[in-house]
Amino acid sequence: MSSAYTNAMSQLDKAAAVMKLDPNMHETLRYPNRVVHVNIPVTMDDGSVKVFQGFRSQFNNALGVYKGGIRYHWNVSEDEVKALSFWMMVKCAAVNIPMGGGKGGVIVNPKELSEGEIERLSRGYVQGVWRNIGSDKDVPAPDVYTTPQIMGWMRDEYEKLVGHEDPGVITGKSIENGGSEARSYSTAQGGVYCTIELAKKLGLQPEETTVAVQGFGNAGSHMAKILSGLGYKIVAVTDSKGGAMNREGLDVAAVEAHKAETRSVSGAPGTEAISNDEILHLDVDILVPAALENVITAENAAGVQAKAVVELANGPTTPEADEILKEKGIVVVPDVLANAGGVTVSYFEWDQNVKGEHWSEEDVLTKLEKIMVSAFTEIWETKEQHSIDMRTAAFVKAIERVSEAMK
Ligand code: GLU
Repeated sequence: MSSAYTNAMSQLDKAAAVMKLDPNMHETLRYPNRVVHVNIPVTMDDGSVKVFQGFRSQFNNALGVYKGGIRYHWNVSEDEVKALSFWMMVKCAAVNIPMGGGKGGVIVNPKELSEGEIERLSRGYVQGVWRNIGSDKDVPAPDVYTTPQIMGWMRDEYEKLVGHEDPGVITGKSIENGGSEARSYSTAQGGVYCTIELAKKLGLQPEETTVAVQGFGNAGSHMAKILSGLGYKIVAVTDSKGGAMNREGLDVAAVEAHKAETRSVSGAPGTEAISNDEILHLDVDILVPAALENVITAENAAGVQAKAVVELANGPTTPEADEILKEKGIVVVPDVLANAGGVTVSYFEWDQNVKGEHWSEEDVLTKLEKIMVSAFTEIWETKEQHSIDMRTAAFVKAIERVSEAMK
Protein backbone atom coordinates (compact mmCIF):
# COMPACT_ATOMS: atom_id res chain seq x y z
CA MET A 1 0.00 0.00 0.00
CA SER A 2 1.36 3.45 -0.81
CA SER A 3 2.39 5.61 2.11
CA ALA A 4 -0.11 8.31 3.05
CA TYR A 5 2.70 10.70 3.83
CA THR A 6 4.42 10.14 0.48
CA ASN A 7 1.08 10.78 -1.21
CA ALA A 8 0.54 13.96 0.81
CA MET A 9 4.00 15.20 -0.13
CA SER A 10 3.45 14.64 -3.85
CA GLN A 11 0.23 16.65 -3.57
CA LEU A 12 2.23 19.42 -1.90
CA ASP A 13 4.90 19.28 -4.62
CA LYS A 14 2.28 19.59 -7.33
CA ALA A 15 0.74 22.70 -5.75
CA ALA A 16 4.16 24.19 -5.01
CA ALA A 17 5.04 23.97 -8.71
CA VAL A 18 1.81 25.71 -9.78
CA MET A 19 2.17 28.55 -7.26
CA LYS A 20 5.97 28.79 -7.57
CA LEU A 21 6.31 28.36 -3.82
CA ASP A 22 9.55 29.60 -2.30
CA PRO A 23 11.81 26.50 -1.99
CA ASN A 24 12.65 27.24 1.66
CA MET A 25 8.98 27.46 2.56
CA HIS A 26 8.35 24.28 0.57
CA GLU A 27 11.06 22.45 2.51
CA THR A 28 9.72 23.72 5.86
CA LEU A 29 6.20 22.55 5.03
CA ARG A 30 7.39 18.97 4.50
CA TYR A 31 7.85 18.33 8.22
CA PRO A 32 5.56 18.36 11.26
CA ASN A 33 6.60 20.67 14.09
CA ARG A 34 6.60 17.65 16.37
CA VAL A 35 5.24 14.15 16.79
CA VAL A 36 4.55 13.01 20.35
CA HIS A 37 4.82 9.26 20.94
CA VAL A 38 3.06 7.61 23.86
CA ASN A 39 2.95 4.06 25.19
CA ILE A 40 -0.30 3.48 27.02
CA PRO A 41 -0.52 0.62 29.52
CA VAL A 42 -4.13 -0.49 29.92
CA THR A 43 -5.42 -2.91 32.53
CA MET A 44 -7.66 -5.23 30.57
CA ASP A 45 -10.85 -6.71 32.02
CA ASP A 46 -9.07 -10.00 32.75
CA GLY A 47 -6.48 -8.23 34.92
CA SER A 48 -3.62 -8.44 32.41
CA VAL A 49 -1.87 -5.30 31.17
CA LYS A 50 -1.60 -4.51 27.49
CA VAL A 51 0.49 -1.63 26.17
CA PHE A 52 -0.89 0.34 23.22
CA GLN A 53 1.13 2.69 21.05
CA GLY A 54 -0.22 6.17 20.32
CA PHE A 55 0.82 9.34 18.51
CA ARG A 56 -0.04 13.01 18.27
CA SER A 57 1.39 14.83 15.29
CA GLN A 58 1.40 18.63 15.51
CA PHE A 59 2.08 19.66 11.96
CA ASN A 60 1.66 23.42 11.84
CA ASN A 61 0.06 26.14 13.98
CA ALA A 62 0.74 29.25 11.91
CA LEU A 63 -2.98 29.97 11.44
CA GLY A 64 -4.21 28.85 14.86
CA VAL A 65 -4.02 26.08 17.44
CA TYR A 66 -3.26 22.56 16.20
CA LYS A 67 -6.56 20.89 15.28
CA GLY A 68 -7.54 17.40 14.26
CA GLY A 69 -9.03 14.14 15.35
CA ILE A 70 -7.75 11.04 17.11
CA ARG A 71 -8.12 7.74 15.29
CA TYR A 72 -8.39 4.29 16.87
CA HIS A 73 -7.45 1.75 14.20
CA TRP A 74 -5.17 -1.24 13.80
CA ASN A 75 -3.46 0.34 10.77
CA VAL A 76 -2.50 3.58 12.54
CA SER A 77 1.19 4.44 12.09
CA GLU A 78 3.41 7.46 12.53
CA ASP A 79 3.47 7.88 8.75
CA GLU A 80 -0.33 7.96 8.58
CA VAL A 81 -0.78 10.32 11.53
CA LYS A 82 1.78 12.72 10.03
CA ALA A 83 -0.04 12.71 6.69
CA LEU A 84 -3.42 13.22 8.34
CA SER A 85 -2.06 16.16 10.38
CA PHE A 86 -0.65 17.71 7.21
CA TRP A 87 -4.05 17.34 5.53
CA MET A 88 -5.68 19.00 8.58
CA MET A 89 -3.39 22.00 8.09
CA VAL A 90 -4.35 22.20 4.42
CA LYS A 91 -8.04 21.63 5.20
CA CYS A 92 -8.40 24.38 7.81
CA ALA A 93 -6.53 26.81 5.58
CA ALA A 94 -8.48 25.79 2.46
CA VAL A 95 -11.80 26.68 4.08
CA ASN A 96 -10.20 29.66 5.80
CA ILE A 97 -10.80 28.90 9.47
CA PRO A 98 -8.19 30.07 12.00
CA MET A 99 -6.84 26.67 13.03
CA GLY A 100 -3.66 24.70 12.41
CA GLY A 101 -3.14 21.03 11.62
CA GLY A 102 -2.77 18.14 14.04
CA LYS A 103 -3.81 14.50 14.27
CA GLY A 104 -3.61 11.67 16.76
CA GLY A 105 -3.95 7.94 16.62
CA VAL A 106 -3.69 4.76 18.64
CA ILE A 107 -2.82 1.35 17.18
CA VAL A 108 -5.78 -0.68 18.40
CA ASN A 109 -8.80 -2.59 17.17
CA PRO A 110 -11.49 -0.95 19.32
CA LYS A 111 -14.01 -3.60 18.25
CA GLU A 112 -12.07 -6.11 20.38
CA LEU A 113 -12.15 -3.95 23.53
CA SER A 114 -14.90 -3.62 26.13
CA GLU A 115 -16.31 -0.20 26.98
CA GLY A 116 -14.28 -0.08 30.19
CA GLU A 117 -11.09 -0.93 28.33
CA ILE A 118 -11.74 1.81 25.79
CA GLU A 119 -12.34 4.30 28.60
CA ARG A 120 -9.03 3.36 30.29
CA LEU A 121 -7.22 3.54 26.95
CA SER A 122 -8.67 6.99 26.24
CA ARG A 123 -7.78 8.34 29.68
CA GLY A 124 -4.31 6.78 29.29
CA TYR A 125 -3.81 8.55 25.97
CA VAL A 126 -4.55 11.89 27.65
CA GLN A 127 -2.17 11.07 30.52
CA GLY A 128 0.50 10.73 27.83
CA VAL A 129 -0.20 13.90 25.82
CA TRP A 130 -1.84 16.34 28.27
CA ARG A 131 1.11 18.71 28.42
CA ASN A 132 0.90 19.13 24.66
CA ILE A 133 -2.84 19.80 24.32
CA GLY A 134 -5.32 22.43 25.59
CA SER A 135 -7.82 24.90 24.14
CA ASP A 136 -4.94 27.33 23.55
CA LYS A 137 -2.51 24.73 22.13
CA ASP A 138 -3.91 21.69 20.41
CA VAL A 139 -7.55 20.62 20.21
CA PRO A 140 -8.29 16.97 19.33
CA ALA A 141 -11.63 15.62 18.09
CA PRO A 142 -13.20 12.38 16.87
CA ASP A 143 -11.97 10.50 13.80
CA VAL A 144 -12.25 6.88 12.65
CA TYR A 145 -13.77 4.74 15.48
CA THR A 146 -13.70 7.48 18.13
CA THR A 147 -16.92 8.92 19.53
CA PRO A 148 -18.46 11.76 21.57
CA GLN A 149 -18.29 9.45 24.61
CA ILE A 150 -14.53 9.06 24.12
CA MET A 151 -14.18 12.84 23.78
CA GLY A 152 -16.04 13.16 27.09
CA TRP A 153 -13.63 10.82 28.90
CA MET A 154 -10.70 12.68 27.41
CA ARG A 155 -12.03 16.09 28.46
CA ASP A 156 -12.63 14.77 31.98
CA GLU A 157 -9.14 13.27 32.27
CA TYR A 158 -7.51 16.43 30.95
CA GLU A 159 -9.39 18.66 33.39
CA LYS A 160 -8.43 16.40 36.30
CA LEU A 161 -4.78 16.67 35.32
CA VAL A 162 -4.69 20.46 34.83
CA GLY A 163 -7.01 21.14 37.74
CA HIS A 164 -9.41 23.48 36.00
CA GLU A 165 -12.23 23.43 33.46
CA ASP A 166 -11.28 23.65 29.80
CA PRO A 167 -14.22 22.45 27.70
CA GLY A 168 -12.51 23.71 24.53
CA VAL A 169 -9.62 21.24 24.94
CA ILE A 170 -11.48 18.82 22.72
CA THR A 171 -14.37 18.97 20.26
CA GLY A 172 -16.95 16.51 19.04
CA LYS A 173 -18.28 16.17 22.59
CA SER A 174 -21.91 15.29 23.29
CA ILE A 175 -24.28 18.28 23.50
CA GLU A 176 -24.71 17.72 27.27
CA ASN A 177 -20.94 17.87 27.72
CA GLY A 178 -20.31 21.13 25.84
CA GLY A 179 -20.66 19.88 22.27
CA SER A 180 -22.06 21.87 19.38
CA GLU A 181 -25.37 21.37 17.67
CA ALA A 182 -24.92 19.66 14.28
CA ARG A 183 -21.37 18.44 15.03
CA SER A 184 -22.48 14.79 14.91
CA TYR A 185 -23.36 15.03 11.20
CA SER A 186 -21.32 18.07 10.15
CA THR A 187 -18.70 16.18 8.11
CA ALA A 188 -21.49 14.81 5.93
CA GLN A 189 -23.37 18.12 5.90
CA GLY A 190 -20.29 19.92 4.56
CA GLY A 191 -20.00 17.22 1.88
CA VAL A 192 -23.64 17.77 1.01
CA TYR A 193 -23.12 21.53 0.55
CA CYS A 194 -20.21 20.71 -1.78
CA THR A 195 -22.32 18.18 -3.68
CA ILE A 196 -25.08 20.74 -4.20
CA GLU A 197 -22.58 23.27 -5.60
CA LEU A 198 -20.97 20.59 -7.75
CA ALA A 199 -24.34 19.47 -9.13
CA LYS A 200 -25.01 23.07 -10.21
CA LYS A 201 -21.66 23.20 -12.02
CA LEU A 202 -22.28 19.87 -13.75
CA GLY A 203 -25.92 20.62 -14.56
CA LEU A 204 -27.23 17.67 -12.53
CA GLN A 205 -30.74 17.71 -11.00
CA PRO A 206 -30.97 15.90 -7.62
CA GLU A 207 -33.73 13.51 -8.76
CA GLU A 208 -31.65 12.43 -11.76
CA THR A 209 -28.41 12.06 -9.81
CA THR A 210 -27.25 8.63 -8.68
CA VAL A 211 -24.79 8.26 -5.81
CA ALA A 212 -22.68 5.39 -4.40
CA VAL A 213 -21.17 5.64 -0.92
CA GLN A 214 -18.16 3.47 -0.01
CA GLY A 215 -18.01 3.39 3.81
CA PHE A 216 -21.13 3.59 5.97
CA GLY A 217 -19.64 4.99 9.18
CA ASN A 218 -20.51 8.33 10.76
CA ALA A 219 -19.64 10.41 7.68
CA GLY A 220 -20.93 8.05 4.97
CA SER A 221 -24.22 7.10 6.60
CA HIS A 222 -25.17 10.71 7.33
CA MET A 223 -24.19 11.73 3.79
CA ALA A 224 -26.41 8.99 2.30
CA LYS A 225 -29.30 10.00 4.55
CA ILE A 226 -29.11 13.75 3.92
CA LEU A 227 -28.64 13.41 0.15
CA SER A 228 -31.50 10.94 -0.08
CA GLY A 229 -33.70 13.40 1.82
CA LEU A 230 -32.85 16.01 -0.83
CA GLY A 231 -34.00 13.68 -3.60
CA TYR A 232 -30.68 12.19 -4.73
CA LYS A 233 -30.83 8.50 -5.59
CA ILE A 234 -28.46 6.49 -3.36
CA VAL A 235 -27.98 3.27 -5.33
CA ALA A 236 -25.27 1.52 -3.31
CA VAL A 237 -23.49 1.65 0.04
CA THR A 238 -20.78 -0.59 1.49
CA ASP A 239 -19.04 -1.08 4.82
CA SER A 240 -16.09 -3.22 5.93
CA LYS A 241 -18.26 -6.36 5.87
CA GLY A 242 -20.04 -5.96 2.52
CA GLY A 243 -22.52 -3.84 0.63
CA ALA A 244 -26.11 -3.22 -0.39
CA MET A 245 -27.34 -2.09 -3.83
CA ASN A 246 -30.67 -1.20 -5.36
CA ARG A 247 -30.62 0.44 -8.78
CA GLU A 248 -34.01 2.06 -8.12
CA GLY A 249 -32.60 3.77 -5.04
CA LEU A 250 -32.01 2.45 -1.52
CA ASP A 251 -34.28 3.12 1.43
CA VAL A 252 -31.38 4.56 3.43
CA ALA A 253 -33.24 4.52 6.76
CA ALA A 254 -34.00 0.81 6.30
CA VAL A 255 -30.35 0.08 5.47
CA GLU A 256 -29.31 1.97 8.57
CA ALA A 257 -31.76 0.03 10.72
CA HIS A 258 -30.39 -3.21 9.27
CA LYS A 259 -26.86 -2.13 10.15
CA ALA A 260 -27.88 -1.21 13.70
CA GLU A 261 -29.26 -4.72 14.09
CA THR A 262 -26.62 -6.82 12.31
CA ARG A 263 -23.55 -4.48 12.35
CA SER A 264 -23.46 -4.42 8.55
CA VAL A 265 -25.42 -2.99 5.63
CA SER A 266 -24.88 -6.32 3.87
CA GLY A 267 -28.08 -8.30 3.40
CA ALA A 268 -30.44 -5.37 4.00
CA PRO A 269 -33.96 -6.33 2.76
CA GLY A 270 -34.66 -5.54 -0.89
CA THR A 271 -30.98 -5.10 -1.83
CA GLU A 272 -28.41 -6.95 -3.90
CA ALA A 273 -24.91 -7.64 -2.61
CA ILE A 274 -22.02 -5.47 -3.82
CA SER A 275 -18.38 -5.52 -2.75
CA ASN A 276 -16.07 -2.66 -1.79
CA ASP A 277 -14.20 -3.16 -5.07
CA GLU A 278 -17.31 -3.33 -7.24
CA ILE A 279 -18.85 -0.16 -5.83
CA LEU A 280 -15.90 1.89 -7.14
CA HIS A 281 -16.72 0.88 -10.72
CA LEU A 282 -20.46 1.37 -10.52
CA ASP A 283 -22.09 3.44 -13.25
CA VAL A 284 -23.25 6.35 -11.05
CA ASP A 285 -23.00 10.13 -11.26
CA ILE A 286 -21.27 10.65 -7.92
CA LEU A 287 -18.94 8.29 -6.07
CA VAL A 288 -18.34 9.07 -2.39
CA PRO A 289 -15.39 7.30 -0.75
CA ALA A 290 -16.17 7.76 2.95
CA ALA A 291 -13.89 5.33 4.78
CA LEU A 292 -10.10 5.27 4.66
CA GLU A 293 -7.02 6.16 2.58
CA ASN A 294 -5.78 4.55 -0.65
CA VAL A 295 -9.09 3.30 -1.99
CA ILE A 296 -8.94 4.73 -5.53
CA THR A 297 -5.50 3.71 -6.81
CA ALA A 298 -3.50 3.28 -10.02
CA GLU A 299 -4.87 -0.28 -10.20
CA ASN A 300 -8.58 0.56 -10.18
CA ALA A 301 -8.93 4.24 -11.21
CA ALA A 302 -9.32 3.45 -14.91
CA GLY A 303 -12.56 1.60 -14.16
CA VAL A 304 -14.24 4.47 -12.31
CA GLN A 305 -17.36 5.48 -14.26
CA ALA A 306 -18.70 8.26 -12.05
CA LYS A 307 -18.79 11.85 -13.32
CA ALA A 308 -17.44 13.07 -10.01
CA VAL A 309 -15.81 11.83 -6.81
CA VAL A 310 -16.65 13.58 -3.54
CA GLU A 311 -14.02 12.60 -0.96
CA LEU A 312 -15.59 12.29 2.47
CA ALA A 313 -12.69 10.13 3.68
CA ASN A 314 -9.20 11.55 4.15
CA GLY A 315 -6.74 10.56 1.44
CA PRO A 316 -8.91 8.05 -0.47
CA THR A 317 -7.36 8.84 -3.87
CA THR A 318 -3.65 8.29 -4.54
CA PRO A 319 -1.71 10.82 -6.68
CA GLU A 320 -1.42 8.28 -9.53
CA ALA A 321 -5.17 7.72 -9.45
CA ASP A 322 -5.73 11.49 -9.45
CA GLU A 323 -3.93 11.72 -12.79
CA ILE A 324 -5.99 8.91 -14.28
CA LEU A 325 -9.27 10.45 -13.09
CA LYS A 326 -8.26 13.84 -14.47
CA GLU A 327 -7.51 12.32 -17.88
CA LYS A 328 -10.93 10.68 -17.83
CA GLY A 329 -12.53 14.07 -17.14
CA ILE A 330 -13.77 13.02 -13.69
CA VAL A 331 -14.02 15.91 -11.22
CA VAL A 332 -12.63 15.16 -7.76
CA VAL A 333 -13.90 17.33 -4.90
CA PRO A 334 -10.92 16.75 -2.61
CA ASP A 335 -11.03 15.65 1.03
CA VAL A 336 -9.55 18.92 2.27
CA LEU A 337 -12.71 20.63 0.99
CA ALA A 338 -15.38 17.91 0.87
CA ASN A 339 -14.95 16.70 4.47
CA ALA A 340 -14.03 20.06 6.02
CA GLY A 341 -17.51 20.45 7.51
CA GLY A 342 -16.41 18.34 10.48
CA VAL A 343 -13.52 20.50 11.53
CA THR A 344 -15.45 23.67 10.71
CA VAL A 345 -18.16 22.80 13.23
CA SER A 346 -15.37 21.70 15.61
CA TYR A 347 -14.03 25.23 15.26
CA PHE A 348 -17.52 26.54 16.09
CA GLU A 349 -17.65 24.21 19.11
CA TRP A 350 -14.28 25.45 20.38
CA ASP A 351 -15.37 29.04 19.79
CA GLN A 352 -18.63 28.49 21.74
CA ASN A 353 -16.71 26.80 24.59
CA VAL A 354 -14.14 29.58 24.83
CA LYS A 355 -16.89 32.23 24.84
CA GLY A 356 -19.30 30.28 27.05
CA GLU A 357 -22.02 30.25 24.40
CA HIS A 358 -24.34 27.69 22.85
CA TRP A 359 -25.57 28.39 19.34
CA SER A 360 -28.77 27.00 17.80
CA GLU A 361 -28.61 24.26 15.15
CA GLU A 362 -29.95 26.76 12.62
CA ASP A 363 -27.16 29.23 13.42
CA VAL A 364 -24.50 26.53 13.12
CA LEU A 365 -25.83 25.32 9.76
CA THR A 366 -26.11 28.84 8.36
CA LYS A 367 -22.50 29.57 9.29
CA LEU A 368 -21.31 26.19 7.99
CA GLU A 369 -23.08 26.61 4.65
CA LYS A 370 -21.55 30.05 4.17
CA ILE A 371 -18.03 28.76 4.78
CA MET A 372 -18.44 25.67 2.59
CA VAL A 373 -20.05 27.48 -0.34
CA SER A 374 -17.49 30.26 -0.38
CA ALA A 375 -14.58 27.80 -0.14
CA PHE A 376 -16.06 25.66 -2.92
CA THR A 377 -16.53 28.72 -5.12
CA GLU A 378 -13.03 30.04 -4.50
CA ILE A 379 -11.42 26.65 -5.16
CA TRP A 380 -13.51 26.09 -8.29
CA GLU A 381 -12.44 29.49 -9.64
CA THR A 382 -8.78 28.77 -8.86
CA LYS A 383 -9.06 25.46 -10.70
CA GLU A 384 -10.52 27.19 -13.77
CA GLN A 385 -7.98 29.98 -13.67
CA HIS A 386 -4.92 27.69 -13.68
CA SER A 387 -6.50 24.70 -15.51
CA ILE A 388 -5.66 22.43 -12.58
CA ASP A 389 -7.65 19.88 -10.59
CA MET A 390 -9.64 20.94 -7.53
CA ARG A 391 -7.20 19.29 -5.11
CA THR A 392 -4.26 21.28 -6.40
CA ALA A 393 -6.42 24.42 -6.38
CA ALA A 394 -7.38 23.81 -2.73
CA PHE A 395 -3.72 23.28 -1.85
CA VAL A 396 -2.70 26.49 -3.65
CA LYS A 397 -5.21 28.58 -1.68
CA ALA A 398 -4.30 26.84 1.59
CA ILE A 399 -0.53 27.03 1.18
CA GLU A 400 -0.82 30.70 0.23
CA ARG A 401 -2.49 31.38 3.59
CA VAL A 402 -0.19 29.19 5.67
CA SER A 403 3.02 30.49 4.10
CA GLU A 404 1.86 34.11 4.41
CA ALA A 405 1.22 33.54 8.13
CA MET A 406 4.60 31.81 8.57
CA LYS A 407 6.50 34.63 6.98
N1 GLU B 1 -11.47 13.94 12.10
C1 GLU B 1 -12.10 14.96 11.33
C2 GLU B 1 -11.27 15.30 10.11
O1 GLU B 1 -10.48 14.51 9.66
C3 GLU B 1 -12.48 16.18 12.17
C4 GLU B 1 -11.34 16.85 12.85
C5 GLU B 1 -11.79 17.91 13.86
O2 GLU B 1 -12.96 18.10 14.03
O3 GLU B 1 -10.90 18.51 14.45
O4 GLU B 1 -11.42 16.34 9.52
